[in-house]
Amino acid sequence: MSFKDEIAKRRTFGIISHPDAGKTTLTEKLLLFGGAIQEAGAVKSNKIKKGATSDFMEIERQRGISVATSVLAFNYQDKKINILDTPGHKDFAEDTYRTLTAVDSVIVVIDVAKGVEEQTEKLVEVCRMRNIPMIVFINKLDREGKDAFDLLDEVEQKLKLKVTPLSFPIGMGYDFKGIYNIWEKNINLFTGDSRKDIEETIAFDDVNNPELDKIVGQKHADKLREELELVTEIYPSFDRDAYLKGALQPVFFGSALNNFGVRELLDCFIEIAPQPRPKESDTRLVQPDENKFSGFVFKIHANMDPKHRDRLAFIKIVSGTFERNKPYLHVRHNKNLKFSSPNAFFAEKKEIVDISYAGDIVGLHDTGNFKIGDTLTEGEVMAFKGIPSFSPEHFRYINNADPLKAKQLEKGIDQLMDEGVAQLFTLEMNGRKVIGTVGALQYEVIQYRLEHEYGAKCSYENFPAHKACWIKPDDEKNEEFAEFKRVKQKFLGKDKHGQLVFLADSEFSIQMTQQKYPSVKLFFTSDFQ
Ligand code: GDP
Repeated sequence: MSFKDEIAKRRTFGIISHPDAGKTTLTEKLLLFGGAIQEAGAVKSNKIKKGATSDFMEIERQRGISVATSVLAFNYQDKKINILDTPGHKDFAEDTYRTLTAVDSVIVVIDVAKGVEEQTEKLVEVCRMRNIPMIVFINKLDREGKDAFDLLDEVEQKLKLKVTPLSFPIGMGYDFKGIYNIWEKNINLFTGDSRKDIEETIAFDDVNNPELDKIVGQKHADKLREELELVTEIYPSFDRDAYLKGALQPVFFGSALNNFGVRELLDCFIEIAPQPRPKESDTRLVQPDENKFSGFVFKIHANMDPKHRDRLAFIKIVSGTFERNKPYLHVRHNKNLKFSSPNAFFAEKKEIVDISYAGDIVGLHDTGNFKIGDTLTEGEVMAFKGIPSFSPEHFRYINNADPLKAKQLEKGIDQLMDEGVAQLFTLEMNGRKVIGTVGALQYEVIQYRLEHEYGAKCSYENFPAHKACWIKPDDEKNEEFAEFKRVKQKFLGKDKHGQLVFLADSEFSIQMTQQKYPSVKLFFTSDFQ
């Protein structure tokens, strides 16, 4: 098989949801179909349980699990599927945003009873901004939930999507009879038995066939006919190009726990989901089937063993093939690196491989060379775009609590920031360091890891910021910018890349600043260039 055929086989995607909607359960069922695991329970949930905030062992355990579930790969039919894990916990949202830069499509899981939840809204927004193709899976149909049309409305309104159902439920909860598959034109009857033969579907090209009444009862049959008519009236028919552009999202219904509607989802996914997509770099658009390798780091994971500080850098291969022991250019450092034991992922295991293809993820052992967003190539000098930092929501001064360990602290902070655990800002006025995070939990993670991995101690102090605004003046030299810098000097800092940031203390202060200094543009993510 040529390397181009190998690339065309790949389907790399992420599953996103609000915690508890059923992401882990769905992932597990998908792996069962791929024959990658033999039994339920093999996929570990990487959820941070409530109350675990102060339980450091729990955090460590989670880190272990999250290495194991970072990439779950399996073969299905003639495709190689890579599922990238995305933490659902909101304190790790930044990690999920970054992972979304490495997927070619996503499946959004929604709980039929809870509908669209907060975390789903945020994550879908990131996908929408990037035009990532999305399929929606409405889960837990074995439970009493919202009416299907109401849910479709909610998805359109809250998530600002344009949907078209490709399956439709017949009853729900106690009265759940099954699902009509609009895509395949058949009915799958719900028996509540997850071991049921997955092939047991009944073809129904025409729902007016009186057989339908016999199978699901007249009441349900009539209702389904009406509903399908409405579906045709209200929703556009499925159009693959629109889906691939992120302009139309097909919707499936099912119950992951009962393994119901999952095969239908997977079969449609295989047929419509995109193969590896081209990616923009600072110099050009890079096509997956180019001969030369290129890729970027989207995630860095610290080793679980605190005695060894080596880390695993996760690379998404954008083009060509990645080969073991071949020198590649680390663009930011302008130096060649070779990797003798690149890890590939299969099911929940990782193993050393000689060759991986565009669309795949490789894990590279790293002793501190990599930062999130770094580009590797076969020699070409370019950098992939699209791993922005978002404004943190919490800010604290970080202080050294053990004067003898200042070096260790500095190194620890530096490396944890490279991993993307949090963001560091250095104040212009006095050089003090401020750590910004998406969730309060990160402060404990940082403190714990600094102590256990670097032997350094830190303490925190409140810093009254509300948002980090990256700054771009229309003119570096004008009066207005000079005045802005003078008035706001207490609130100015530099981020890790030396970019100037205004740490505003309130929404009001942001508004006032925008009014008073219109030529100083404020941005809430770091990639505004
Ligand atoms: P995640 O947080 O999104 O990964 O959610 P999980 O997959 O861990 O599921 C959360 C809870 O919902 C678990 O108790 C699951 O057993 C349950 N669950 C998942 N899918 C279904 C389903 O289809 N029906 C029902 N009744 N429960 C489900």
